[in-house]
Amino acid sequence: MSDSLAIHWFRKDLRLSDNPSLTAASVHNRVLPIYILDDSNTGEYAMGAASGWWLHHSLVSLNTSLNSSLSIYRGNPIEILVDIITRCNVKAVYWNRCYEPWAMHRDEKIKARLQARAIAVESYNGALLWEPWTVKKNNGDPYKVFTPFYRQGCLQSEVPRQPVPIPQATLYHHDTESTLSIDNLGLLPNTQWGKGLEANWIIGEEGAQARCRQFINEGLSEYKDGRNLPAKPYVSRLSPYLNFGEISPHQLWYTVRSIADNQHVEHFCRELGWREFSYSQLYHNPDLPTKNLQQKFDNFPWVEDQASLRAWQKGQTGVPMVDAGMRELWQTGYMHNRVRMIVGSFLVKNLRLHWHNGKQWFWDTLVDADLANNSASWQWVAGCGADAAPYFRIFNPITQGQKFDPDGCYVRRFIPEIAYLPNQYLFNPWEAPEHILKAAGVELGITYPKAIVDLKMSRNLALTAFQSLKKLSS
Ligand SMILES: Cc1cc2nc3c(=O)[nH]c(=O)nc-3n(C[C@H](O)[C@H](O)[C@H](O)COP(=O)(O)OP(=O)(O)OC[C@H]3O[C@@H](n4cnc5c(N)ncnc54)[C@H](O)[C@@H]3O)c2cc1C
Repeated sequence: MSDSLAIHWFRKDLRLSDNPSLTAASVHNRVLPIYILDDSNTGEYAMGAASGWWLHHSLVSLNTSLNSSLSIYRGNPIEILVDIITRCNVKAVYWNRCYEPWAMHRDEKIKARLQARAIAVESYNGALLWEPWTVKKNNGDPYKVFTPFYRQGCLQSEVPRQPVPIPQATLYHHDTESTLSIDNLGLLPNTQWGKGLEANWIIGEEGAQARCRQFINEGLSEYKDGRNLPAKPYVSRLSPYLNFGEISPHQLWYTVRSIADNQHVEHFCRELGWREFSYSQLYHNPDLPTKNLQQKFDNFPWVEDQASLRAWQKGQTGVPMVDAGMRELWQTGYMHNRVRMIVGSFLVKNLRLHWHNGKQWFWDTLVDADLANNSASWQWVAGCGADAAPYFRIFNPITQGQKFDPDGCYVRRFIPEIAYLPNQYLFNPWEAPEHILKAAGVELGITYPKAIVDLKMSRNLALTAFQSLKKLSS
């Protein structure tokens, strides 16, 4: 390649390994790596506080891997790119594709604008095993049900591309009055909350690789059934790393498959398939974050109740399995998938609060907050999405706890104030006789809240409300 300078624009691909855009840019004899905090195009999807916290540390880690060559900006990418191109005589711009509707719209405009200035623009797939427009039914329609999407749409189409190694690139650093330090981006929350999150994660590409190795050593061989047990180390906890692109799904796909060919590996790959399904839904339904996929839900009689919402957010509902999940989220930025389904069902079915409330709180507090996965999953929980949980499937937080946290380790970890209750009453303390509560040091309404709803009654009210929709649509 001629003596030229190319930009690699890091976005949700904060890694060097298996980064197809960075690899392609490296054919130029100098590469200028940049990150732009785009707060001009995100609209209502500006990142939440936990994502901002993660991003800060991820950029620090990436910059170290790049020998401090990462140039950081904040603002509207098109203006920033044009400015750098003019100042530095850049010949080409490279990036890995993003799939959020606002980002796709932005990128299309940027591509056209740069190409009109005779700048080469190349984009690559760094984030999905199968890009959403490639997986279609024979008649060209998108899939609405997961199993055929995955089995026929994904597995029977082209195999995912192989990961690419870290390229040899000569890096160029651009430092002007418009470049910022990572601290200047102001991504860290100015509360103690961020400090608490820090104990749980090693952020960045090396942390992602270490997490992947740990999962392979400790979790993969138990994954199929063990993935339902929130107290056990059988899930990967790789979701934030995947979300920020610190590891690629391609690397995961091929790494686990190289280790074994068994039901656990198959199941793990299938879960990666759910992520692909969420992206497919978002691509084909850009309103997925806000609009019920099943229109009949537009008439659902949601309840407005700020006090219940607050209790749910803070893990103070008095229902231990729900509170444990919400406190795990607050303390670690993560919540186990089984418990996400339990707290979600409790919010939309027992409390009958709109799923938007749950989606928004998760968006702000999850370190893996992902527009596609979060929106599709909340629609699934509420019953209004594609291939959604049927309306009559209302998770019972007592039996769910007894089944999936049988020794109560998960609940006791996050709700120490009821840790001395015997297992028999750990998930339903309101049913415990007074002497048992006393012996465990529990005073309901004082040391731990009384349940804010009666589970049976609220379940029946939810069923009645959902049945009224059925009548409307029949
Ligand atoms: C109400 C609700 C909200 C959710 N919001 C998000 C979100 O914002 N971001 C997010 O990444 N996931 C979300 N999920 C999906 C799922 O809970 C997480 O992906 C999973 O818990 C991440 O943990 P893990 O990496 O240990 O998963 P593992 O079990 O180790 O799975 C590996 C990877 O597969 C993907 N995956 C697993 N389960 C699912 C699933 N059900 N749907 C889509 N992808 C999946 C994830 O990328 C995950 O990292 C949500 C689920 C629910 C019920």
